[in-house]
Amino acid sequence: MRVVVTGTPGTGKTTATERLDTDLDVVHLNDVIREEGLYTERDEERDSLVADIDALVETYADADDVLVESHLAHHLDDADRVVVLRCAPETLAERLRERDESEAKARENAESEALDVILGEAVGKHGRERVYEVDTTDRTPDEVAAEIAAVIDGEREPSAGEVDFTEYLL
Ligand code: ADP
Repeated sequence: MRVVVTGTPGTGKTTATERLDTDLDVVHLNDVIREEGLYTERDEERDSLVADIDALVETYADADDVLVESHLAHHLDDADRVVVLRCAPETLAERLRERDESEAKARENAESEALDVILGEAVGKHGRERVYEVDTTDRTPDEVAAEIAAVIDGEREPSAGEVDFTEYLL
């Protein structure tokens, strides 16, 4: 079983997967990118690393019984289930400000969330039948972890496009 948990930064992937009780090996991909040097350059303006996606795909090509968490996790091949965490853009921006991200980054990610960018990429790569959207806006981290566990246990039907944050763009 290969599960990926993706979503715009600030949707709560790290927090929820840290609380998840699962037999799968949980990989926090952003830590791996930094620790293993799986990046092509440093983006000084954004104070971030530009991940080497080909290297990530290759590194996890044969991994089994894993759950990989990151806003890049949906780029991995052959995922059995793709969980896309969602969050209302205003709430997402608030979470990012509280995490001491810059105002520019908070706004950029809120807009990206309103435009369904990661959901669209996930559906495009893996197909709707493998995608499970989870709206975290009014859920605690433990409730989000329980939703992810339900996906892993086969207790949820696939869902994509059920949340609509386009009002944020008006
Ligand atoms: P991601 O890994 O998706 O970038 P994080 O897990 O780092 O997101 O969470 C971003 C911020 O939002 C953190 O400060 C975290 O404490 C907070 N947070 C995460 N999940 C929730 C939630 N379900 N409800 C409220 N705040 C949350």
